Amino acid sequence: MHNARRVFAALLTLLALAAALPPSRAVTQDEIDSLITQASGIQEEQAALQQEINSYTMSIAAALEQKTFLDAAIAQIEEEVAALEAQISDCRQRIYVTETELADAQRREAEQYDLFCQRVRVMEEQGRVNCWMILLHATSFVDFLSRLDFVNEIMQSDQRVMDDLRALQAEIAEKQQQLNDEKQELETATQTCLDKKTELDTQREAANQVIIDLQANRTEAEASRDVLAVEAERIQGDILRLSEELERQEEEARIRAEEAAAEAYRRMRERVAAIDDFTVSYGDGGYIWPVNSRRITSGFGSRSSPGGIGSTNHKGIDIGGVGYGTAVHAAKSGTVIISQYSSSYGNFVVVSHGSGNTTLYAHMSTRLVEAGQAVEQGDIVGLTGSTGHSTGPHLHFEITENGTRINPLIYLGGYDQ
Ligand SMILES: [Zn+2]
Repeated sequence: MHNARRVFAALLTLLALAAALPPSRAVTQDEIDSLITQASGIQEEQAALQQEINSYTMSIAAALEQKTFLDAAIAQIEEEVAALEAQISDCRQRIYVTETELADAQRREAEQYDLFCQRVRVMEEQGRVNCWMILLHATSFVDFLSRLDFVNEIMQSDQRVMDDLRALQAEIAEKQQQLNDEKQELETATQTCLDKKTELDTQREAANQVIIDLQANRTEAEASRDVLAVEAERIQGDILRLSEELERQEEEARIRAEEAAAEAYRRMRERVAAIDDFTVSYGDGGYIWPVNSRRITSGFGSRSSPGGIGSTNHKGIDIGGVGYGTAVHAAKSGTVIISQYSSSYGNFVVVSHGSGNTTLYAHMSTRLVEAGQAVEQGDIVGLTGSTGHSTGPHLHFEITENGTRINPLIYLGGYDQ
């Protein structure tokens, strides 16, 4: 079949492609997409084959219906033939009986004739009953007439018997002729039925052949469809395997990128630590100084706006003497909840320490943490700068407790005014 050959050729191509795939190497989405396209093509082939199979199934049903009709017609013809044959058999029986009757009548006629002849011969031999002698020996005309009556009586009696027998024979012969005619008619009808049956048998044989051919075609289409199903299954397996491989490779790449980022961060910390003589000093609240400088350039609370752009109600402290690019450390352990840029704070980071306690680090040149990241006390969250509303490099530092900003110098000692 044309379709099956096409499918087979497609399979060979796919198998060749499959054989060409090296066992282990980088997987691409394009490759997976190509397999999906192939699987889709196979699905279309499968659908076409299924349509073909359904069409065969319908044709087979129609042929079976036709065959059932023929079977019924043949059964009816066979019944008719059987009935005719029974009638013929009955007719033959009656012909046999009639022939027997005829033979019997013929035999009786022959017997009667023999009897008559014997009687006449005996009478002749005895010289008494010779008709002519009887008549010639008449003594008178009255006697002659009397004798003539006697002879006639004898002859008429025999003649009647003979006539009756002949009539019976004729009747039987006629009946026999009728029976033969009837038998001839029955045989003709039987032959007609048998001819019709032969024709129906031929049609049934043809219907059987059609069914056999259709079933063979359907079986072939089903086999092709099953082969395709196996192939589709295999390609789906490849798609799944390659997708998983791609995902694994992407995950590996992501982990490598994360490791590289962590390594870069570690090197940055090392570099900053090397140039930054950071010394930890704990205040009463458990905070450490966020930068390696204790010089307060602007304290907490009311003040005149620095440079005309700073806040007049200062909610934190400004620590100067830090220059650009020195490390800003987390004053306490916690979780980074904000790491972003704003027009006023510039690059700023907020670390939550739990229970409404947060610290804020603003005007940085660089942020080195992301929201959601856990930080230990002393971890570097960014580098000093002068972004946002700032007139020079410094760190703006805030502490919030129970949702209210407080003066950080309550906790941080040893500062210079
Ligand atoms: Zn400030």
